[in-house]
Amino acid sequence: MQVLIPDDRRGHRDSLRNLIQREREVQVSGIAEEAESAPDCAIARELRRALDGCPVCDGSYRDHSYAILATVAIAEQWQSPLRVKQYYDCLQERRWQELLSIREWDDAADALVGFAFRCSMGRVGIVTILSPAKPGLPDTPLHYTILPEEEGNSLLAVLPPEKWRPLRSVAPASL
Ligand SMILES: [Zn+2]
Repeated sequence: MQVLIPDDRRGHRDSLRNLIQREREVQVSGIAEEAESAPDCAIARELRRALDGCPVCDGSYRDHSYAILATVAIAEQWQSPLRVKQYYDCLQERRWQELLSIREWDDAADALVGFAFRCSMGRVGIVTILSPAKPGLPDTPLHYTILPEEEGNSLLAVLPPEKWRPLRSVAPASL
C-alpha cells in the first residue's frame, strides 16, 4: 500500500483536510512511503494510487483532473542533477513558465515527472513521481504539495484547459 505522509507526522489526515479547507493560504507537503509495485502505468491510475485519496477532499476523484508540468530525464550525465535542482527550485519559487519549459525525455532513462492535480474543491496540488525506464517497475511518488489558493490560481493561469485530463473516467469503476 502506498501512503503519503505529511511532513508533520503528528498530523492526522482529517485534521490535515480540515486545515486545507479552512485555511486558504496554507501549503502542505508530504513525502511518499511504501511504494506499491504495479506492472502497468496508466498515468491517471498511477496518480490516483500515488495520492491514495485526494489529499484535499479525500473524495473519489470525481471531477478531478491532472496535467503534466515537467519531465526530467535522469541519465548519467552531468546535467541531470542540475535539472532536478532546477525542477525543485522552480516548484519552490513558483516559476511556473520555467517549470513548464522543462521537457526532457529519454526512453532509456528514468524520468522525474511533475504533475499538477486539481481538486473539485478548487485547490491545486503538485505531485512529483519517479518513473523508471525499465518496463515492469512501478512509478514511485516522491513528493506532493498542495498549493496555497492564490499560487494554485497562478498555476492554473499558465495551464491552458486542453492540458487537463480527467483523473478518473466517468464510468463508475472502482477508485
Ligand atoms: Zn479532491
